Amino acid sequence: MSISERGSREERRQDDAARRGGAEASAAAVLVRAFRPTGHPGIALPQRISSLAPLYIDTPDAAAAFFASLPSSGAIALDTEGASFHRFVDRIYLLQVSAPGVTAVLDPLAIGAPARMGELLQSRAVEVVLHDADYDLRLMHQDYGWHVNHIFDTRVAAQLLGIKAFGLAALLERYFGVQLDKKFQRADWSLRPLSKGMLDYAALDTAFLLDLSDKMRAELDRMGRLSWAAEEFEGLEGTKWEREDPALAFMRMKGARDLSRRELAVFGEVVAWRNTVAKELDRATFRVMGNEVLFELATLQPKSVPDLSTIKGMPRGIVERRGRELIDAVARGVALPEDALPRYPRPARWDKDADFDERVNRLRGVREAVATKLDLDPGVLASRERLESIARAKPASLEELAAVPGIKKWQAGVLGDAAIRAVKN
Ligand SMILES: [Zn+2]
Repeated sequence: MSISERGSREERRQDDAARRGGAEASAAAVLVRAFRPTGHPGIALPQRISSLAPLYIDTPDAAAAFFASLPSSGAIALDTEGASFHRFVDRIYLLQVSAPGVTAVLDPLAIGAPARMGELLQSRAVEVVLHDADYDLRLMHQDYGWHVNHIFDTRVAAQLLGIKAFGLAALLERYFGVQLDKKFQRADWSLRPLSKGMLDYAALDTAFLLDLSDKMRAELDRMGRLSWAAEEFEGLEGTKWEREDPALAFMRMKGARDLSRRELAVFGEVVAWRNTVAKELDRATFRVMGNEVLFELATLQPKSVPDLSTIKGMPRGIVERRGRELIDAVARGVALPEDALPRYPRPARWDKDADFDERVNRLRGVREAVATKLDLDPGVLASRERLESIARAKPASLEELAAVPGIKKWQAGVLGDAAIRAVKN
C-alpha cells in the first residue's frame, strides 16, 4: 500500500507492466454495451454519469476549453495509460478525465500538458480520484512535473475496507454490477490512431470512479476508517521515481542476490547490454530478453555464438543478429579482475541483535491477530519492512510507536500496546 522502497525502477517497471497487463485489464474494459448490466436487473447507472459518450480531445484548443469548463473545486477522476508493456521509455500516451456528468479521453501526444489541468490536479480544492495511483503519479511527475494533491485512491480504499478483490474490474462488478471484458488488456496505447473501440474502453477507467469513491467513502466512514484512508492518501502525495545509478540497478533485480560475484559481474554486463538494445529499439526490456535468460547467461557463461542457441528461452533473432555482441558482453564479465568484481550490498547487520528475529516473529503474531480481527490483509496492516522497523526501534510507548519511520498513525493505533509488548525483551 505505501510505496515499496525496494526494487529498482527497472524492476518496478517490469512489475508494473506485468501487473497492469492483468489488473488493468481489469479496468480498461468494456464497451458501452456493458453499461447495461447483465444478470443484475434493475441496477441503475451511477448517478454522476449523465452521458455514456465520452469526449475525444486531440487539439490544444479543445483541451483548454474542456479544462476551462471544469469547476475549480469538487472532484475529478483521472487515469493515464502508458506503454511500459511495450516500450523501453514509458510516458503518458492517454489521459482519461471524468468530472460529474462528463468523461473525456485526451491525447497527450497531440495536446501536450495543459497548464489548467496541472493547476486542477495540484489544487487542494480539487479531489483527484484514481485507482491504484502509484504508477500514474510517477508518470505524471516524470512527464509533466506535476505533483497531484488531495488524492482518493479507490484501490487503497478497497484494501482498507478489507476487500480482497481490489482490481478495478472486480470493484465495478461489486459496486455496480458492471462486467468488463478484456479485449484491450494488452493494448499498445502508444500506437496511433487509436480506434473508437479502444478509446471507449479507456473511458471506462474513469467513468465510474467518482461514484465508486462516493460509495467507498461512505463505507469507510461507517467503519471508522476514513482517517486511515486520509493518512494513506496523503502518503501518496509526492510519489515519483527516485533517480538511481543505472550501473547498480541490476543488483536489485530479484534473484541477483543468489549469484556469486563472478556471476554477478556477467549478469551486470548482460543486463547493461539488454538495456542498450531495448533503448535502441524503444521496446520493453522483457520483450528483448527475459530475466530468466539473463540469469542463465550469468551462470552458464557461454563462450561462442552457437552456445547461445542451447540456452533455454534464448530468442533466435538475438542469436542471429546480435549473438556476437552478447558473447562479448559475457566475456567482459568473465574477464573482470578479481578485485573489481561487484559485491552485493549486504543489509546492515549492526542494528540486528540476537533477539531481533524473535521480536519480528512476535510482531508478526500481533499483526495476524489484529488483521483477523479487523478483516484486513496482514500486508495492508503492516508490511514486513514496517515490522522490522518496529523491531529495530523497540518503542516503549504508543507515541514512540507512532514515531517509528514509515508507521502511520492508524497503524500505530490498531497495533497498539500488543506491538509494544512484543518488542520488550
Ligand atoms: Zn487505465
